[in-house]
Amino acid sequence: MPILADIEKFIVQYRDEISHSKVDTVHSEDGAFDIHLIELNGEATPSKDTYTLLLVAGVHGLEWIGVTVLLHHLSHLLETARWNSGVRKMLSSARVVAIPALNPTGIFQGRRATAQGIDLMRNAPIVAESAVPFLGGQTISPVLPYYRGTGELAPESRALIRVVENLLETSAGVIALDLHSGFGARDRVWTPWSMTSAPPPHTEQYSALERALNDSFPDHIYTFEKQSDSYQTHGDLWDYLIVENMKRGGPLFMPLTLEMGSWNWLKKAPWNAFNKLGWFHPLAPHRVQRACRRHITLLDFLVSVCANGNDFFAQK
Ligand SMILES: [Zn+2]
Repeated sequence: MPILADIEKFIVQYRDEISHSKVDTVHSEDGAFDIHLIELNGEATPSKDTYTLLLVAGVHGLEWIGVTVLLHHLSHLLETARWNSGVRKMLSSARVVAIPALNPTGIFQGRRATAQGIDLMRNAPIVAESAVPFLGGQTISPVLPYYRGTGELAPESRALIRVVENLLETSAGVIALDLHSGFGARDRVWTPWSMTSAPPPHTEQYSALERALNDSFPDHIYTFEKQSDSYQTHGDLWDYLIVENMKRGGPLFMPLTLEMGSWNWLKKAPWNAFNKLGWFHPLAPHRVQRACRRHITLLDFLVSVCANGNDFFAQK
């Protein structure tokens, strides 16, 4: 499977510049698959005053482009750090951690859900405030999409929860970016709290982030909005993690979703709509490269917000 092999290749290639561990190993009839955790090594050991950027991709097994964009960006940071002391300093001031593929069994099988049919972003014990459309999560059957599971957290969900909780215990704050694709014609940055139309906790900090993005990169391509403006969902893992963090009185935690609008590349190559993967991943190599280039600004922006987290969040 090329996408999963890309992750293994990355880990070998940058073994001296990253810390790598396995959060869990998940199984399907195809075999055993590791869920990898990667942290970029800074010059100093991160302290509890450091803000962390967590990048997550491959939650939905068809959305390969998120994995590619994530790996591309980690390479970009590591390669630049070799000759740019400013970037090395930035990577010492911020922790950059990544789970490049949370759902490797789904990626292997080329399906949105896990091999057990569970849609990980519908799996948490969170119920939306009002009736949701079918895509907001269902408990009818794992054969149908958007299946929430039987009420238990899937091992992949538990893996994400463990990683986030550990980062929250050891950081001044955590910004998470979960990379998805397939919805709409525009690239969107979604704020969480998709179980309700109410604004998410830390609204002020989300507004500060949006303002800084708009002011620093006035020509950026993103629509910054709340996911529930498009649709509400049951079982969102990020909503669950926010609730749990609030219960513990934990530090600043700001999950975001990057939803890459695939209808753009489908518009240019409509025949790809006949390929299941084509809805979620650009099939032409130059379009993959274009997607990687397209999101460098946003990802660099989030790294630099974390590197300057104490000033950034103090002044807002
Ligand atoms: Zn997705």
